[in-house]
Amino acid sequence: MDIQPSTTRAIRAQDKTTNEHKSDYPTSKSIWVHQACNTKAILFYFSLICQKPILAGLAGYIFSDLITGVYHWSIDNYGDAKTPIFGSQIEGFQGHHEKPWIITRKHIATNLYELSQIITLIFLPINLICNNPILLAFVGSLSTGVLFCQQFHAWSHTTNNKLPTIVVALQDLGVLVSRSQHAAHHHALFNSNYCIVSGIWNNFLDEIRVFEAFEKVIFFWFGVKPRSWNELT
Ligand SMILES: [Zn+2]
Ligand SMILES: [Zn+2]
Repeated sequence: MDIQPSTTRAIRAQDKTTNEHKSDYPTSKSIWVHQACNTKAILFYFSLICQKPILAGLAGYIFSDLITGVYHWSIDNYGDAKTPIFGSQIEGFQGHHEKPWIITRKHIATNLYELSQIITLIFLPINLICNNPILLAFVGSLSTGVLFCQQFHAWSHTTNNKLPTIVVALQDLGVLVSRSQHAAHHHALFNSNYCIVSGIWNNFLDEIRVFEAFEKVIFFWFGVKPRSWNELT
């Protein structure tokens, strides 16, 4: 097909215009700028998607510390070796007060196996029936904190030179319960610093005397004294 001169001129004019437009935008610079913007946008949206589960996970870990505090307080103060279900735990914690170093010589599996059974029974059904990422992040982090609390507790009784550097660093940061904080529990009355995951709740609970208030309510309603009162007399 013959191309008319007028058509050729039109094509040349169009090419010139296109090339002029191309020269208006420095190609390499624009690609980097756009890629950076796209990456930033993707990270921003990703952070929005992950934000709630991450916060839920953090809340679960913080809440696990409180749960261990309430549980530790209850078995330190009520029941005995013959108490159904909890008898061995009560006896074990009383034995721990007398010989705290023994926990440091136990294998991690020995420290965790009892709690792992309870946690499997409670949390596995939630994991199976629930698809909500926020709830799963909360429950997963909560159960992990509770599951490992006895190991964190054992590490708080271990000297720094026998611990991995990362554990010492996490203790110093307050992510794991520290030696100094848990040592305060091992005084004669054993009635403070009950929390053994991160210990983040200990100061608050002790300062406003939450457990003392619980003990007074229980004594008022049921006439049962906590063990820590008996140890005063
Ligand atoms: Zn105790
Ligand atoms: Zn201890």
